[in-house]
Amino acid sequence: MQNSIASGVPLPERRFVKTHAMTKHNAPPRTARAGRAIGATPGRTMAAPLAAGCPIIWQRRARPGPGVFSAHHPVQGIPMRIETEVRLDFKDVLIRPKRSTLSTRSNVDISREFRFLHAKGEYHGVPIVAANMDTTGTFEMARALDAFEMSTALHKHHTVDEVVAFFRALERKSAAFYSMGIGAADDDKFGRVMAAAGTGADSAIRYVCIDVANGYTEGFVRLVAKIRERHPHLVIMAGNVVTGEMTEELILSGADIVKVGIGPGSVCTTRTMTGVGYPQLSAIIECADAAHGLEGHICADGGCATPGDVAKAFGGGADFVMLGGMFAGHDECAGEVVERDGRKYRRFYGMSSKAAMEKYAGGVAKYRAAEGKEVLVPHRGPVAGTVQEILGGVRSACTYVGARRLRELSKRTTFVRVSQQANEVFARA
Ligand code: 5GP
Repeated sequence: MQNSIASGVPLPERRFVKTHAMTKHNAPPRTARAGRAIGATPGRTMAAPLAAGCPIIWQRRARPGPGVFSAHHPVQGIPMRIETEVRLDFKDVLIRPKRSTLSTRSNVDISREFRFLHAKGEYHGVPIVAANMDTTGTFEMARALDAFEMSTALHKHHTVDEVVAFFRALERKSAAFYSMGIGAADDDKFGRVMAAAGTGADSAIRYVCIDVANGYTEGFVRLVAKIRERHPHLVIMAGNVVTGEMTEELILSGADIVKVGIGPGSVCTTRTMTGVGYPQLSAIIECADAAHGLEGHICADGGCATPGDVAKAFGGGADFVMLGGMFAGHDECAGEVVERDGRKYRRFYGMSSKAAMEKYAGGVAKYRAAEGKEVLVPHRGPVAGTVQEILGGVRSACTYVGARRLRELSKRTTFVRVSQQANEVFARA
């Protein structure tokens, strides 16, 4: 991992904690105490002490990484793992300034060049991507962001003809990702789109985003592998996941870019509806580390609310950053314009919200609950103004740490943990 976190919070010691119940007769095997048996499940590691009737034992995972305790109740015999190391969000850190030879932010190059693990060809551009939500992943957004060498993941509800015509006319192929889900209808539509767009190196489509809320299913991994096998030329972005092992699995199955983020989105309610999620900055740091070890890439998706958050995502190791809420409310967005008290707003909603499901699936299916919400975003005019703010912020972050190019930002980033981000005196002004 290239970046570091300077923290005043002491981490728990890397050793077993001997409880009152642990004696030389029921203590875990030496290999486990030394951390060598950590690949095994906690249940297996702790089998000997449990058999000896030890009521409860706390175990510290030795290596690698963060603290994991497992508690076993001898009657129920159910292992419970609790990772105790605090995981971090953008709001928990700031980037520490460093001595720099850069005199002006205009000297900073925020474009990047990538070669991918599977797909041939080179990417060049500013690796910020508009989210494939039907409000932000529009053709208009793609044209506007293309002017800044940025990209747009088009939403998946365009017709085959529309999307093929758009890609045929697109010169900079990395300016847009074709998006698809994992249902049979998505697969069928993708087949028709690729048949029309052409396959192989001459295809009008080079970048594809395979997107699902939960990237941990076997079916998803199989689909990524199938598309990789059928379309070796495609740069495949796939997600979403938040942990290193699943990042590795997706990369080994054919993904070039793994999309990272479960629950951080501005109109996402997954964390409150399911209790599932992972603080986004830690997810980025851990997944980037895993991906880069295999020469893969990641796209940090969701949770950025300010240009500073975008800089932190890149500082944490993200190769690409995807933005939904920060691009919402602009002229290039879709979504009804509403007037309230003389002010204009645009509707913005999550793709798993009731609003989206009513629009595309005839309502919320009986077996599920919505995991997104709908909000009104003040109308913000052309997206170019917001782009300038984001790029200006990232450039300035690079200047503060002495990174001449965006690619140097993560190497030069040290995060400091903080209890406050900004002075709130005039927060409501
Ligand atoms: P934002 O930049 O707005 O914080 O996050 C955008 C991301 O939120 C999207 O790229 C997507 O991954 C995620 N997202 C969009 N709609 C929903 C939704 O309805 N539910 C959930 N859980 N996530 C969503």
